[in-house]
Amino acid sequence: MTTASTRTADRSSAELIEAESPVLAHNYHPLPVVIARAEGAWVEDVEGRRYLDMLAGYSALNFGHRHPTLIEAAHRQLDALTLTSRAFHHDRLAGFAEGLAELTGLDMVLPMNTGAEAVESAIKVARKWAYEVKGVPADRATIVVASGNFHGRTTTIVSFSDDEDARAGFGPYTPGFRTVPYNDLAALEAALDDTTAAVLIEPIQGEAGVLIPDDGYLAGVRELTTRAGCLMIADEIQSGLGRTGTTLAVDHEEVRPDVVLLGKALGGGIVPVSAVVARREVMSVLGPGQHGSTFGGNPLAAAVGTAVVDLLSTGEFQDRAAELGKVLHSGLTDLLGRGVTAFRSRGLWAGVDIDPALGTGRALSERLLQEGILVKDTHGSTIRLAPPLTITETELTEALEKLGRTLA
Ligand code: PLP
Repeated sequence: MTTASTRTADRSSAELIEAESPVLAHNYHPLPVVIARAEGAWVEDVEGRRYLDMLAGYSALNFGHRHPTLIEAAHRQLDALTLTSRAFHHDRLAGFAEGLAELTGLDMVLPMNTGAEAVESAIKVARKWAYEVKGVPADRATIVVASGNFHGRTTTIVSFSDDEDARAGFGPYTPGFRTVPYNDLAALEAALDDTTAAVLIEPIQGEAGVLIPDDGYLAGVRELTTRAGCLMIADEIQSGLGRTGTTLAVDHEEVRPDVVLLGKALGGGIVPVSAVVARREVMSVLGPGQHGSTFGGNPLAAAVGTAVVDLLSTGEFQDRAAELGKVLHSGLTDLLGRGVTAFRSRGLWAGVDIDPALGTGRALSERLLQEGILVKDTHGSTIRLAPPLTITETELTEALEKLGRTLA
């Protein structure tokens, strides 16, 4: 009998790629590599070819593939308890929430699963806060967002996207959002009024090409939101948890938002774990029955999330990202004018604009794949580099050399 598992066995990469097309939704355009195993910064395909992972699951693999501490935490939890639903308490949730609150300098945690769910949850919390605490008239609350944003894929979130691929064809759209240009404090100030519940912002715009706002922008957003009596929500789903050389990207400006959204790396590359972390006064608007998730905060997620928080509590990974970030920055500086027209980097995260004459970002990603380097393009001729924070300096240098050779 053909079972699902026998279908996976003993097929080549090419056969597996071909088998996907008729049965899998075509909402992705993956590079032609079929990964079967991974460890640290390296992955291996079905045929045993090895590749250095310079994307790290869009920052979901900040600690590399199968970090031993995280795998051990997951194994231990698999042997004890995996799911209860929130109908009951379980013994892993309190420690996870306490640890995450301490790590972020905030008070209360709402555990969810995916990044988009954390964003949706924060929108609900902000609206409820606006009605109950700020006194906005019913159904009039607005949330201010930035142009070029990426916060996920739900119908509400794509309603305030300006990326036509992400948005077109999915209306009717959710009202209640106002878009201002990113990195423009005057425009933001003009958009705030008595109906504003919150400003929702990525401290660095990842999908847009790792766009880093001017120094002072995040502090300015904090000041304007405080003055306008609305919430500052920082979407740190991609930028947070060590990626930029600090625990959160807002730490670079010593800004404390009212609400921080985390995801991706919070699940250690093992399970989807996200969270809304907020000041007590804000999160306290939620009462029983008003929000929830069957899987949010489940024992396996909480065990892995706790181990992630512990890894970050020493500051070691943040320091590594900062130190290796200098190597990344200097390697990319050397490539300026040699195929690279511009780049932006902070910590171990870079958006690299490639000379369009050399081909698209996609074409370059395919050439790098041949060289054993995994990267992914974003928006035309930009590629994003976000290696695991566990990568060694030698590995990083090797990747930069191969990028240089490929561009030459
Ligand atoms: N917010 C930001 C800043 C992201 O980069 C992403 C994903 O790339 C999301 C939200 C959505 O996360 P998920 O894909 O887990 O729903």
